[in-house]
Amino acid sequence: MSVPIYPGRGTGRTSLVTGGAGFVGSHLVEHLLDLGDEVVVLDDLSTGSARNLAGVADNPRLTMIHGSILNPTTVGQAIRSCDRVFHLAAAVGVKLIVEQPLRGLRINIHGTENVLTAAIEHQASVLLVSTSEVYGKNTADRLREDSDRVLGDPLLSRWTYAGAKGIDEAFAKAYCDQEGLDVSIVRLFNTVGPRQTGRYGMVLPNLVGQALRNQPLTVFGDGRQTRCFSAVEDVVPAMVAIERDPRARGEAYNLGGAREISILDLAHEIIRTLDSRSTVELVPYERAYAPGFEDMRRRVPDNTKAHALVGYEPRTSLTSTIMRVAADLLSRERLGSDAMPLAGAATFRGVV
Ligand code: UDP
Repeated sequence: MSVPIYPGRGTGRTSLVTGGAGFVGSHLVEHLLDLGDEVVVLDDLSTGSARNLAGVADNPRLTMIHGSILNPTTVGQAIRSCDRVFHLAAAVGVKLIVEQPLRGLRINIHGTENVLTAAIEHQASVLLVSTSEVYGKNTADRLREDSDRVLGDPLLSRWTYAGAKGIDEAFAKAYCDQEGLDVSIVRLFNTVGPRQTGRYGMVLPNLVGQALRNQPLTVFGDGRQTRCFSAVEDVVPAMVAIERDPRARGEAYNLGGAREISILDLAHEIIRTLDSRSTVELVPYERAYAPGFEDMRRRVPDNTKAHALVGYEPRTSLTSTIMRVAADLLSRERLGSDAMPLAGAATFRGVV
């Protein structure tokens, strides 16, 4: 097993980004490099892709490690030159979680504990990236960070993601209170933007892809369930600002969008924006997922806490996100299929 040597170029801090080849992770890596950080990416390329980092692959301040957070040795090696960790590596996507609950539980619980314990050992601070899924079926008008969690039967695989992420947060808080770990938490609400793939069920890239192909847009259930989509370019700088702020230690912050929209309205907005000939097809949940599947009817964030701390404000319109996601999907189509293995993967060093 070999490990890269980090030469310490540049004047910024050194950040480890687990899951840095994923959708949100790759945008974060670009942002940190822009700020002057040295950046180490640890990613197993299971759902992420080296192509997501193609724009910065030649940056001398970037080191990429191909490996899993499930391997404590790999995590220790990745973290050892870093003074802060952005922990994004996770099994995400409702489709993936429903199909492979065991994998999701292992990565999201054991993997996170590996990252937290390595951070303590190396005295690095941590931003734990969590999810609005932790609120479950709470349909409150605005979900505050201290709102109740309303979860369904733990035997339904749909709830294992919310369960695992809740445990991650509890782990983080306990390590903070009992072991002095400098950790803060963000809960992302339906973050969208270029490079997000629809392969694991995420609605916006799925529907945009269908609209571009003039296929029916598959809206699950009655389509009246609502979400507040937030743009990745609004969320990423807020994540960095929260990580830096000492007042955030031991705290959780919602980062969500401002506009509540039903999935049916989203589908029509996508068709209009892209001037598509697609129609909308309502697909029963039991056909989309499995019998007994439960969806969230509504998920609306209260962003007041992050606004008060770092001035977080969702600014990017959904229309502009739809257009940018469409442009991104089209450019990837030209490069080859979304699912194709990438030549860029060779830029990852083989540390597992
Ligand atoms: N959804 C849909 N069509 C799709 C994919 C998802 O109607 O092709 C619905 C899904 O049932 C949910 C909403 O869109 O009500 C958001 O789904 P996503 O998986 O993107 O996020 P989450 O369920 O975590 O909010």
